[in-house]
Amino acid sequence: MRNWMSLQADLGNFQYRRNVYVFALKMSFLAVILSGVIIALTIPPLGFFGLLPMTLPHAIGFAAIFSWLVGGTVSGMLSLAAGFTMHELTLSRAEFEKLSRTDTLSGLLNRRAFTEALETTEDNASLVIFDVDRFKAINDRFGHACGDAVIMAVSAVLTSAFDELSVVARLGGEEFGVIVSGEPLEARLERIHAVRARIAGRPITVEGQNIAITISGGVADLVAGRSKQQVYASADRALYLAKALGRNRVVHEREGLQHAWHGLAENGFGTESRGTGSDNVMQAYGI
Ligand code: GH3
Ligand code: MG
Ligand code: MG
Repeated sequence: MRNWMSLQADLGNFQYRRNVYVFALKMSFLAVILSGVIIALTIPPLGFFGLLPMTLPHAIGFAAIFSWLVGGTVSGMLSLAAGFTMHELTLSRAEFEKLSRTDTLSGLLNRRAFTEALETTEDNASLVIFDVDRFKAINDRFGHACGDAVIMAVSAVLTSAFDELSVVARLGGEEFGVIVSGEPLEARLERIHAVRARIAGRPITVEGQNIAITISGGVADLVAGRSKQQVYASADRALYLAKALGRNRVVHEREGLQHAWHGLAENGFGTESRGTGSDNVMQAYGI
């Protein structure tokens, strides 16, 4: 019985009000059927011992009517009340889950949701990590509120630049992650480069001030059999390299390896870094 009821509750999916009514109706019928069984088991013996204040057919008739009226109605109402409570709980749980996966400032997915999406993405996709260049200087010069506005503006550009097959998230601070899917690699890279150019080509207007910003990006490809940690680490290394090579550029992991082999010093590397120092990048590429 308990199993049957919890199965009904599961099948009911209390997200929708209509299912609450269906659940209450089922519970109501169940109560009537159970009442009928109890009547069938108790009234004939009572009649046999002469304990009924009326004839047996009358007693069965009354009992049947009351089981419908009282049992059915009361259990229906109780089930409705329970069903609507579960409906509210389902909605607030869904809302809570959504909030726990959303970045409050930008409205994009947060790092947690992004990591989950990355885990479930198979091959034929690329991971990009974008980072706003010299963001600390923007904060220092224009104030934290303007910095926040820049983060929101970049979020809006990223959202509009990638289609619904892609996943766009704010990973924290002024760092964004995008899983670009559904196109051949060349088309994906083109799209990624275009976003960088679009941001660099148009200053963001915040509180009447035009703030020119640029972003750098590191790209790595999701390939069947390659671990997501490896892909993430490779995109991050490519981003380090993009910063080291002067910022306002996108580096694909393959280019990263080329730069590593040809020696970063020749490419101007060493004068700029992303905070961890040139040695770390060179170490990352094994040189
Ligand atoms: P780089 O080009 O190497 O990325 O330099 P950067 O200045 O962008 O990087 P850094 O890591 O030195 O600075 C990031 C700054 O972002 C520091 C931190 O105060 C600021 N920041 C982090 N989260 C937020 C936020 O939510 N809003 C604002 N306004 N600033 C933030
Ligand atoms: Mg930055
Ligand atoms: Mg950063």
